Amino acid sequence: MIEEHLHESRPHEDRLHEDRLHEDRLHEDIEKVLVPSAAIAARVRALAATIGEDYSHADGRLTVVPVMTGSLLFAADLVRALPQRRMRIQLTTVSSYGGTATASRGSSIVGALPKHLEGHHILIVDDILDSGGTLRLLRSEFMARGAADVRACMLLRKRIPSAMNTPCEYVGFDIDDEFVVGYGLDYDDLYRNLPYVGTLRKEAIGRELRA
Ligand code: 5GP
Ligand code: MG
Repeated sequence: MIEEHLHESRPHEDRLHEDRLHEDRLHEDIEKVLVPSAAIAARVRALAATIGEDYSHADGRLTVVPVMTGSLLFAADLVRALPQRRMRIQLTTVSSYGGTATASRGSSIVGALPKHLEGHHILIVDDILDSGGTLRLLRSEFMARGAADVRACMLLRKRIPSAMNTPCEYVGFDIDDEFVVGYGLDYDDLYRNLPYVGTLRKEAIGRELRA
């Protein structure tokens, strides 16, 4: 059995500092784990069951739109957990945080928008609801392009008024207002590959800038 499989089957895989033997130092930059990978997996299954029922009449006209790059892991897991019906997957890229910034700078769409949305039921899949700017932008763009309806599925939502007051049909977890990384969420494009969501140690923030 390869090493990764042994690792996955261990009961406390999200505990910090237990992976030194793997020469894997990424975990050392994490202050605390907010959402363990097992909790993510269970929530993805539950969300997929609800979404699958809600879209049971979409009749091949469901288009899932993962927002890159933060929803990469979440969307990949979610679409595999959904009932295996005909659906389209079209990526879109929205830029909000850039590089080492940890505060929002507003959202803009990068590159072409998904095409042929007329009459389609659009499910936006994204990593985290913060200011709500990304979601508002995408909803209005997709509605303007003739979508039958637009819903959103966010892995995380911050417990702040801007996020809680932004309409969102499906939410994985509500979390405190902290900068988080992992399971697709990045800091300067790092940490996306962590299997859980956690906060960064202060020492890790701005290290590249100081280096
Ligand atoms: P919003 O448009 O709702 O303000 O922000 C959504 C985007 O901001 C997310 O898709 C994500 O790219 C980024 N973002 C917001 N909060 C966080 C956070 O705590 N950590 C990370 N890594 N990105 C965040
Ligand atoms: Mg994003």
